[in-house]
Amino acid sequence: MLTDPDVADSYARDRTFLEPGKPLGVVLAQNRDEVVATLRWATEHRIPVVPRGAGTGLAGGATATDGCIVLSLHKMTAIRELSPADEIAVVEPGVITADLDRAARAHGLMYAPDPSSFEISTIGGNLATNAGGLRCVKYGVTRDSALGLEVVLADGRVLNTGRRTVKGVTGYDLTGLFVGSEGTLGVITQATVRLRRAPLAPPTTIAAEFASLHDAASAVSAIIAAGCQPSLLELLDRGTLKAIDDWKNIGLEPSVAAMLIAQSDATDAENAARRMEALCEEHGASFVAVSGDAAEAEELIGIRRLAYPAKERLGACLVEDMCVPRSVLPDMITEIEAAAVRHHVRICTVAHAGDGNLHPVFIFEHGLTEPPPAVWAAADEIFRTALRLGGTLTGEHGVGLLKRRWLSLESGPVAEEVQAGIKQVFDPLGILNPGKAI
Ligand SMILES: Cc1cc2nc3c(=O)[nH]c(=O)nc-3n(C[C@H](O)[C@H](O)[C@H](O)COP(=O)(O)OP(=O)(O)OC[C@H]3O[C@@H](n4cnc5c(N)ncnc54)[C@H](O)[C@@H]3O)c2cc1C
Repeated sequence: MLTDPDVADSYARDRTFLEPGKPLGVVLAQNRDEVVATLRWATEHRIPVVPRGAGTGLAGGATATDGCIVLSLHKMTAIRELSPADEIAVVEPGVITADLDRAARAHGLMYAPDPSSFEISTIGGNLATNAGGLRCVKYGVTRDSALGLEVVLADGRVLNTGRRTVKGVTGYDLTGLFVGSEGTLGVITQATVRLRRAPLAPPTTIAAEFASLHDAASAVSAIIAAGCQPSLLELLDRGTLKAIDDWKNIGLEPSVAAMLIAQSDATDAENAARRMEALCEEHGASFVAVSGDAAEAEELIGIRRLAYPAKERLGACLVEDMCVPRSVLPDMITEIEAAAVRHHVRICTVAHAGDGNLHPVFIFEHGLTEPPPAVWAAADEIFRTALRLGGTLTGEHGVGLLKRRWLSLESGPVAEEVQAGIKQVFDPLGILNPGKAI
């Protein structure tokens, strides 16, 4: 347990601009029993507990509150089992996402959900936020890979949910309930996750440049509607590309307003890529490159993964995360561009476009702990548009602290009442991550 305030402070924040409260201390749990002991003590003394993985969250979910215990799971890094026969792994919550994927690859398998942060985020954090990622357009989000969990409840009881089979209907789906619960219902201490067969051949990758962001978004809708089933379909706007270019010099041409990166890992990947190439051209792409070279593909995806750190260099960032039906992606993009102009705010957008999941990143002055009013006004407008278009406030980052003020617009009073009732069942004293998510 760490109590030195300076050391504790580094465990008190996530990757948002939010200024955290002062924790009482930080518990670096090494096993389930230490989690149990911490929660029993916290219950006895009515102390709030903020569970924490790697602190890469973008919604404020792991932000410490005054007088809390930060319960860090990042030291629980064992991969307890990896079964090629059952295509599952049993892991502790502090395992780094990419480490699990690498371990699976040694057996011809993969762990599919791959947030851009996969080299730094933990499986526990991914489960608690129902993280998405680049491959999710084909393989589904974290929930689709979660089979069973071991969870320590607020009072220290240990709950086992789910199973290690690929099917099962015994009782309510408690695994699904805990996935995405942002540390408000219990602390995940072990997970049984599904692995998939890794594709045998390298994917075919396309990179398409557009002179209009709207055209690029239209190409995405067309690719989905045509049933190309990409294994990755990402969109970067000019602001994002420029931020990366200023940092890494990728040779960005002045005429490029947007870039699409798409992949197919199907057995007829080359055909699928050619169909996507044709659709990009039909929708106004000025240049499309198709490649089956694994190194080139890695380089392109590496560029995509730089999108967020490149923007962090420009200022403080409010990263939004709405998800809309894929057919209305061009409308959503148009509205984001219009809101930026109307409110005079700087927005750079990157998107897991194949999922309809957009990250407009609002950039404001470094050092501010609260975005200026114009940023909130533009964000408010964009949220309302996403909901009007049939979308949701958060596709993968969670509600945390940052999106709570808009929750009622999406949930409505009945859903809010039911969610409060569920919270009451698992955490009647309200000590688990209070003030977050619901
Ligand atoms: C560069 C960058 C790129 C990113 N790209 C993506 C992306 O593509 N897709 C995506 O979905 N996200 C992305 N993120 C956001 C972030 O990485 C994810 O939300 C990730 O799942 C958080 O994992 P973490 O271990 O850092 O969790 P933390 O930030 O430590 O915690 C996140 C939430 O989970 C809770 N929590 C953590 N561990 C546990 C546990 N064991 N039991 C119960 N609750 C727990 C915390 O209380 C908190 O509410 C990105 C972030 C960065 C910085």
